[in-house]
Amino acid sequence: MARYTGPRCRLCRREGRKLFLKGERCYTDKCAFERRSYPPGQHGPLQLRVKLSEYGIRLREKQKVKRIYGISEKQMKKYYEMAVHMPGQAGHNLLQLLERRLDNVVYRLGFASSRAQARQMVNHGFFMVNGRNVDVPSYLVKPGDVIELKEKYRNNPQIQENLEVRVQRGIPGWLELEPDNFRGRVKALPTREDITMPIQESYIIEFYSR
Ligand code: SF4
Repeated sequence: MARYTGPRCRLCRREGRKLFLKGERCYTDKCAFERRSYPPGQHGPLQLRVKLSEYGIRLREKQKVKRIYGISEKQMKKYYEMAVHMPGQAGHNLLQLLERRLDNVVYRLGFASSRAQARQMVNHGFFMVNGRNVDVPSYLVKPGDVIELKEKYRNNPQIQENLEVRVQRGIPGWLELEPDNFRGRVKALPTREDITMPIQESYIIEFYSR
């Protein structure tokens, strides 16, 4: 199935929580979820009373994570297959793979205010990894990788502002940022503790392995 291109706030309302898909707007009182925290549609408010089945709970968790990272069902299934064949806990592996995507790392480092914006920047060739052009958002970073904004984009006021905001909010412990050099480094693979979003990854594994 193709990637969803409709209103992003609708996804937060559908999942019943803020997914932070629209950058800075998500932190303001313009956030649609702050104003209408019930599912979209004519009968949205009534759906709050519907009790989900066991299957439904797992489906919603999978959909939520797909939406947070902005990936398609096909990609999500691929990460699941990779995760179950890696050593360690499949759920943790799955989250680690998602976090290691280059578009996510660009967002986490603060070059972009949302993953959607990060994906666009990567697609348009804004970044180098270890000195080489990489324009593939699904590129998986590894410890030691250096992600650098190309020089010609460094005067972009939007990117500078994004970085300032990120420096104030802090970046995850597995990454390191040199904002003055427009460069970030992967210090280590992300652990489960580094991923602070409320995700029940075991539900996703159960969903696909049913
Ligand atoms: Fe979700 Fe952000 Fe829209 Fe709020 S503003 S509903 S957090 S995408």
